[in-house]
Amino acid sequence: MPDRGLVGAEPCALTIAGLDPSGGAGIAADLRAFHAAGVWGCAVCSLLTVQSTAGLRSVVPQSAELISEQVEEVLRNERVMSIKTGALGSAENVRAVTALLKKYSNIPAVVDPVMIATRVQGQARLLDESALTAMRELIKVALVVTPNVDEAGALLGTKIRTIEELREAGIALVGLGARAVLVKGGHLTGEYSVDVLATKESVVLLRTVRRKGPEFHGGGCTLASLVAGHIAQRLGQGVMLDDDLLTESVRWAKRKITSAIAHATKIGKGLLVLRPLQSWIDYFL
Ligand code: PLP
Repeated sequence: MPDRGLVGAEPCALTIAGLDPSGGAGIAADLRAFHAAGVWGCAVCSLLTVQSTAGLRSVVPQSAELISEQVEEVLRNERVMSIKTGALGSAENVRAVTALLKKYSNIPAVVDPVMIATRVQGQARLLDESALTAMRELIKVALVVTPNVDEAGALLGTKIRTIEELREAGIALVGLGARAVLVKGGHLTGEYSVDVLATKESVVLLRTVRRKGPEFHGGGCTLASLVAGHIAQRLGQGVMLDDDLLTESVRWAKRKITSAIAHATKIGKGLLVLRPLQSWIDYFL
């Protein structure tokens, strides 16, 4: 029985991630991506950082109780059609988010298992090393997990150096219990940047020409949120959640982020940032 209070409500996507005060990564990047996907963005802050385009300096995780309370409050009252998780900081927070995703298992979740920032000034981490075991449980309740090569390697206890190893990592992470895995090969070398989308049924390689240019950050946050945003938008249109919608959302997100990377923006002294654009054509797909 649909909740009558939600009749006429716009579809929303919810991010649970960290705050980067310069706006390049974390919840600020996620909200821009949700906007580009055409859905309303809600945000729960899992950790605070001292950070700028010059790099990450320090991290203060928020309490698991506060995160859970915020998530429950938003889910009770807003029409949240998908959830994206990013930097969570501590094992306790990862366990709390796992419990939330289990409780609200009707809402699909994109889990970006963020561990280390692109540029770090010192030793700060976005996920404690002791949280790896908890992260292996979180990926089991995700619709799709989006690790980069280092994160996939850490989850599997291996080192990924080639496209073949990237493929094998996708399959192995599905073996760990993830429903679908998008392993991002952007950190490997070669003319093309290759990502692997693996499910129990298939393994697809997604290739884009590698861009040469100044380094940017917030790419992982943006891609995962574009996927979550597109899923929310399509579910809001009444489309069924299945592997076809997942593949469509990943391909759509890749196209969006590729054009955002081509137009990466300089806002200061350090890394460039991404601004994916909303396109009206997407509404008529
Ligand atoms: N900073 C915060 C607060 C984040 O939440 C994230 C990703 O979730 C990052 C940084 C990572 O971004 P990047 O590695 O692109 O710098």
